[in-house]
Amino acid sequence: MRLRKQQGVKEKLSQYPETVILLEEPEIVSWDDIFEKKQPIKLEIGTGKGNFIIEMARQNPSINYIGMELRDQVLLKAVKKALEYDLKNLKFLVADANNIEQLFSPESINGIYLNFSDPWPKKRHYKRRLTYRGFIEKYNMILQRDSWVIFKTDNLTLFQFTLNELAAVGLPMKKITLDLHNDVEFDNNIMTEYEEKFSNLGNKIMSVTFQTHK
Ligand code: SAM
Repeated sequence: MRLRKQQGVKEKLSQYPETVILLEEPEIVSWDDIFEKKQPIKLEIGTGKGNFIIEMARQNPSINYIGMELRDQVLLKAVKKALEYDLKNLKFLVADANNIEQLFSPESINGIYLNFSDPWPKKRHYKRRLTYRGFIEKYNMILQRDSWVIFKTDNLTLFQFTLNELAAVGLPMKKITLDLHNDVEFDNNIMTEYEEKFSNLGNKIMSVTFQTHK
């Protein structure tokens, strides 16, 4: 039953080849050929229902955006939302961040957004957190020099873990806030679905901007 349901979602996603990239196996994608215009590319990993990346694409037509998501069922919601706008600078990719270096050529990406990444609270699962140093090394391969990764979360344990990973590896950090929504330096923040949900519950949103190159 479960399998049939999942196949149905893939079929639905395959109806939007202009918007969604579906791969049988991870392979290097020629993103410059896929987008209408050759311009800087920014990537959101774990895009969820897509609010953030859709709004970024609407506000910044001179940047190409990719929303990458592991779960196709969630991505279908993002795709349907994106289709309400005619965004030539936004594509979605069903893929696992573990394979990221097999999907993007070296130094082809200009920035990465990690928004409310799964916290993986059990200690033994720390290597699955998207800010674990193993992931940061992979981001480093695909990012152009001087590009930034912007991470935000309401989860203090994940935030501390992230800062400790960055400190351990010795990576430059630019901006840190413990209260994004009340910080004047972050006045053009675009909220994600999780951000809205958790800030409505009264949780403070934290963010760090960092580089993957030393
Ligand atoms: N960014 C969205 C937001 O802020 O509303 C969604 C946050 S949700 C907590 C985390 C998302 O990351 C989920 O949709 C999950 O499927 C996706 N995700 C988790 N691990 C991933 C991975 N290894 N590769 C790609 N996406 C992943």
